[in-house]
Amino acid sequence: MSGADIARLKADFEAVAAIGVDPQGGWSRPAYGEAECTAHDWFANAAREAGLSVRQDAFGNSIARLEGSADLPALAIGSHLDTVTCGGLYDGALGVLAGLEVARRIARSGEARARPLEIIAFRDEEGRFGAFTGSRAMAGQLPQDAFASMRAADGAVLGEAMEAAGFKTERADAARRDMAQIACWLELHIEQGPVLEATGEPIGVVTAIAGQERLSIRFSGSAGHAGTTPMHLRRDAFAAAARFADRFRDMILVEGENSARGTIGIVRVTPNQGNVIPSQVSLGLEIRDISAPLLAHLAGRARALAQQTGEEMSVDVSCRTSYAAPPVPMDARLVAALDGAAREVLGRPAPHMPSGANHDAGILGALVPAAMLFVPCDGGLSHVPQEHTDWPPIADAVAVMERTARRLLASTELTQC
Ligand SMILES: [Zn+2]
Repeated sequence: MSGADIARLKADFEAVAAIGVDPQGGWSRPAYGEAECTAHDWFANAAREAGLSVRQDAFGNSIARLEGSADLPALAIGSHLDTVTCGGLYDGALGVLAGLEVARRIARSGEARARPLEIIAFRDEEGRFGAFTGSRAMAGQLPQDAFASMRAADGAVLGEAMEAAGFKTERADAARRDMAQIACWLELHIEQGPVLEATGEPIGVVTAIAGQERLSIRFSGSAGHAGTTPMHLRRDAFAAAARFADRFRDMILVEGENSARGTIGIVRVTPNQGNVIPSQVSLGLEIRDISAPLLAHLAGRARALAQQTGEEMSVDVSCRTSYAAPPVPMDARLVAALDGAAREVLGRPAPHMPSGANHDAGILGALVPAAMLFVPCDGGLSHVPQEHTDWPPIADAVAVMERTARRLLASTELTQC
């Protein structure tokens, strides 16, 4: 990347960094809020200046486009411009700005393109009103009645927030796109974890986006006086849940093949009083892995462990799956294309890695060939104001995206599977 290219990309980051600055620290650009809308307007202007045509779909996703010489499906690159509350500068914005920079260079080069290039900035990836709402709307996975029922934690209703931002919910179905128009999807994102930084690698090629299964497990025992009830006569729901939690972690470590993640993130104790034996504990746990069979195995083992622990502790156990999403493998041809470009840019292979977090690439990747590149972030930190990635890995990653994009744009071969 030349000095001028880096200076332009830095200027883009400075422009986006001025949008949605939160007095509490970091950036807050919630979906359909003023700041997210301003960021989309900024993107549209910058893309038009680069020679792209720009439209917002009925859901508010921004689509910037460079036409190709043939009527082929487009190569699409992008990410999102919303943030969590008091989030960082790089999550999402990096992928959009990298796509914009790639498009600028390709537009400037005057090279013939067999297919169109699109840079897409999605709305509401962070899930103010759900999760991946913008890409799901484009993928046709958002039912019309969702607009009235999907609510933010602050009580805002998706449909009302959209109307306030100037989008007509009765038209929002029109955001649904014929996925045959998109040949493939590429997304650059910060890793949001510590693996690349720990290995000193500037780029990771993502092989798959982990699937997940969330279980709600309830341990039901008997309340009693904490001072008078002998230990051997108790049906202590928390003691059972705690024993299960310890076993669950060990089970993931032993049977998770070094790739699975298991987390108990929700614990609700009833009655949650210091002098009363807990009568009920509800746990919310999730398991993630890129292998569907392993995910199913681990979820089954977690259920069995909960039942076994309940029997040992004389506590009743109920268990249900509250959410399940299958893993999304990245497209092997695109992974190879990114891999080849990374070897040219770095002079050596880039590591391959799974993505434990889901992304817009996980929504689109279930429907069209997709692939992702990761760059490290300091301390693995994301969704916080301190989120930071150094310029050298960003420059390398943009160079890899550009090389890959040029090849895909020149090829008429890549059609949808
Ligand atoms: Zn993101």
